[in-house]
Amino acid sequence: MLPLIWISIQCISLLSLRRLPQYTNPEINREIHMSANIRPTAVAGTFYPAHAAPLLDQVRHFLERTPPHKQVHPPKAIIVPHAGYIYSGAIAANAYALLRPLRDTIRRVVLLGPVHHMSVRGLAAPSVAAFASPLGTVMLDQAALATLANLRQVMVDDRCHAREHSLEVHLPFLQSMLEDFKLVPLAVGDASAADVAEVLERLWGGDETLIVVSSDLSHYLTYPAAQQRDATTAQAVLDLRTNISHEQACGATPMNGLLLAARHHGLRPVLLDLRNSGDTAGDKSRVVGYAAFALYEDKPHAH
Ligand SMILES: [Zn+2]
Repeated sequence: MLPLIWISIQCISLLSLRRLPQYTNPEINREIHMSANIRPTAVAGTFYPAHAAPLLDQVRHFLERTPPHKQVHPPKAIIVPHAGYIYSGAIAANAYALLRPLRDTIRRVVLLGPVHHMSVRGLAAPSVAAFASPLGTVMLDQAALATLANLRQVMVDDRCHAREHSLEVHLPFLQSMLEDFKLVPLAVGDASAADVAEVLERLWGGDETLIVVSSDLSHYLTYPAAQQRDATTAQAVLDLRTNISHEQACGATPMNGLLLAARHHGLRPVLLDLRNSGDTAGDKSRVVGYAAFALYEDKPHAH
């Protein structure tokens, strides 16, 4: 079964939470109000285990099997896939494992993923206070989101986030790797690379800020065709090209934006892993491609 097929069986909506009845007990109303201000999980139990213990086990299993990496300093940004964990979790883990030295340093994660369920212009921020995960609630960085308020390409739209998996699947990895962080989640629709890069510039920060871009690569090609196309896409990332197409990567828009910003900041991309669902848990007749990249700031003090 291919990962995108799973999406249709989930239909949790934030809008339905807001229609909860009003109770006469003010304590119950307060709890309802608080829960309505948290985005619930949409794909727990399908893309990844719904309960904390087996979820932690699976994430740790992936992380423990990542090969040692030669880089001595941690990345400023990573590009990671967002399929069900059995398909792409092992690939994503290669990037997340690099965050070990940053456990107590990173306080803010800027997480950009493409929309899969609705078309939208620009980048959509949620209005909620937090995102739920089986490993606990992740608070949003309201101060960081407020800095985006006057950008014409950024709007607030919870519908873009309600069923979206491209951001949610990264929370358990981040929660496993980082001690205490706030999230800036943006669902990316129709936007230029410059639009996305402008948003990233506002949020760039220093060592306390990690940028995570969520994308899969080719979709439903034969195994050899996918290998060929994904190798071309990987090279485009390594060359910091900003014209990756949506046939190459569903997250092409946030990827192009990150790569444009990476040029300005002199980031150096490294390919950590490149596989597809035929290598992990799927058959080889039609596959989805996955890659993990790290982008490094070459700071002398970090060596
Ligand atoms: Zn996708």
